[in-house]
Amino acid sequence: MFENLSERLSGVFDRLTKQGALSEEDVKTALREVRVALLEADVSLTVARDFVKAVQDKATGQAVTKSITPGQQVVKIVHDALIDTLKGEGEPGALKIDNAPAPILMVGLQGSGKTTTTAKLAKRLKDRDGKRVLMASLDVNRPAAMEQLAILGVQIGVDTLPIVKGENPVQIAKRAKTQASMGGYDVYMLDTAGRLSIDEELMQQVEAVRDVANPRETLLVVDGLTGQDAVQTAENFNDRIGISGVVLTRMDGDGRGGAALSMRAVTGKPIKFVGLGEKMDALETFEPERIAGRILG
Ligand code: GDP
Repeated sequence: MFENLSERLSGVFDRLTKQGALSEEDVKTALREVRVALLEADVSLTVARDFVKAVQDKATGQAVTKSITPGQQVVKIVHDALIDTLKGEGEPGALKIDNAPAPILMVGLQGSGKTTTTAKLAKRLKDRDGKRVLMASLDVNRPAAMEQLAILGVQIGVDTLPIVKGENPVQIAKRAKTQASMGGYDVYMLDTAGRLSIDEELMQQVEAVRDVANPRETLLVVDGLTGQDAVQTAENFNDRIGISGVVLTRMDGDGRGGAALSMRAVTGKPIKFVGLGEKMDALETFEPERIAGRILG
């Protein structure tokens, strides 16, 4: 899983004399390699620096285990620390959807995979948790996006709120709430409009919807391949809207996963799910081990 970095570190340590404990100098040398690996995996500079510093404090003075080389030992310490940082509190992928009908607000930039993820998550809630789900698109500026959600709804057997022309997003959110209450739904999902970049109008619209819907979960959908931009997006949405979790899409692509670490460190919010393809069942609970392996390469 992390042979590459492990090999690099073994090379570094081969040149050092073996001692009973990891010396500060040994650890420093090894962590220089780790820092490079983190940066190559698209972890932001500040996060990589803080992370390496924390690992350095932890590793220095630790007794060297006989069965593994000092290099492998540092990699293990780094690996464990990555998992600690990546893992959120509580059950991975758990959602607060106990009081029916529970609103879930889906936010993110256009093209991040928000509509696809809304449908994937609705399908998961229906199939795995036996929930009755209603989906509503609030993207009034893009009728095609509203149509897309309706089509996906038919495909996965989940109801969508009928489209009424001329309503604004707040009106749609209110109608979704009424319909969800009257129709005995467990969950209603609000797929908000996205923009190509964050702007004031988008944020105001999402805030207004959030205030009427009072969501139990606000999930930010971000494209995992966009690296540092994804982290910036998460920071902005979290500051402005207050998110409860993140869904990283396109993790079937060849991104190294460093954005996940930066995002956790910057927002403190859990990554709940990952999107692993275009198909409706390509959504999985976030597993820190997998990302840690990808980051260490
Ligand atoms: P939105 O504008 O944020 O609502 O984005 P869409 O849901 O329309 O998704 C944009 C494109 O990304 C579509 O072609 C999706 O099929 C694709 N997509 C979404 N999630 C994933 C994913 O996890 N992996 C891959 N490979 N494609 C995805």
